[in-house]
Amino acid sequence: MTPVRRSAALASLALLATACSVLDTTDDAPPTTISDAAAPTSTTTPVLPAAAAPTATTMPTTTVPLGPPRALVTPTGVVVPVRGGGPGAWIVGTPCHGEATVADGGPIHGVTVLIDPGHGGDDEPGAVGAGGLQEADLNLDVAWRLSAALAERGIDSLLSRPADYRIAVIARAELATVIQPEVFVSVHHNGGETVPREAPGVEVFHQSTSDGSRRLGGLVFEELMAAFEPLEADWVGGPLHGVSYRLNRDDEDLYGVLRRPVGVDTVLTEAMYLTNPSEEDLLDDPAVLDLEAEALATAIERFLTTDDPGTGFIDPTTFRGDLGSGGGTVGCEDPPLE
Ligand SMILES: [Zn+2]
Repeated sequence: MTPVRRSAALASLALLATACSVLDTTDDAPPTTISDAAAPTSTTTPVLPAAAAPTATTMPTTTVPLGPPRALVTPTGVVVPVRGGGPGAWIVGTPCHGEATVADGGPIHGVTVLIDPGHGGDDEPGAVGAGGLQEADLNLDVAWRLSAALAERGIDSLLSRPADYRIAVIARAELATVIQPEVFVSVHHNGGETVPREAPGVEVFHQSTSDGSRRLGGLVFEELMAAFEPLEADWVGGPLHGVSYRLNRDDEDLYGVLRRPVGVDTVLTEAMYLTNPSEEDLLDDPAVLDLEAEALATAIERFLTTDDPGTGFIDPTTFRGDLGSGGGTVGCEDPPLE
């Protein structure tokens, strides 16, 4: 047994009782309302005139200046929101939600789809399968495949976490709020208590206050179910199978990645149960990951180009307990930015 496998098995034991997305429910930042979450962005980010703020990286043939970038891809490949500064000394937010100055980076003026691979870094593997497959790695793999699938459809995208490093939920949300994509999708794979099911136990969560997020969630659910149903597996599922929103004890969206982005239609997907060995076997197959990525791309394309309502909606739920501090900033160490 390699050290990696051993630590994965231990993590698996610790995670058996909790769904993977539980790790993204809260963080250690001071209690924050949506307006609080928006404050750092609106006070430190240059306000872009509408005419100079395109929402796609594929620029039309125009000579309108782009203005300052909304985000940068640093020389080490880390995606960071721009808070101020200028060429040679950009002030940026870091993955641990600190602040740093970087000299240069690839400018991001806007993007249609921001893809958020859940978890990441040594401390936050997310759910772990019995065979050792870690959710953070799996989410990243699917995110890159989704980016490629979108590109084939002419839809530009960006990953909030393009590599294996830790990034706080509040930093993911800042990126979404600053970039203002048309779609923000957080890619996860599930863990936790389940019962056997005849069909895939797909779960999708949307924002309680956004009609766009709800419709996007319905389309994502519809496409994932259609893609997985022909597959053979000993499927499992939980009571949240379907599309829904979850509230916390303050009647806000439970998951920080849904609660914190301001003005961005966001969904969180739990495509399969990684902690179910039969589904882990499927997720070990690149062809299945392509199937999942294509389903997500189709759902996003339908969201952007049709008024289709989606399917699979179930009643919302409220969780009044305390789900832990995963996804926060305590103990977080930023990756090198330059
Ligand atoms: Zn997760």
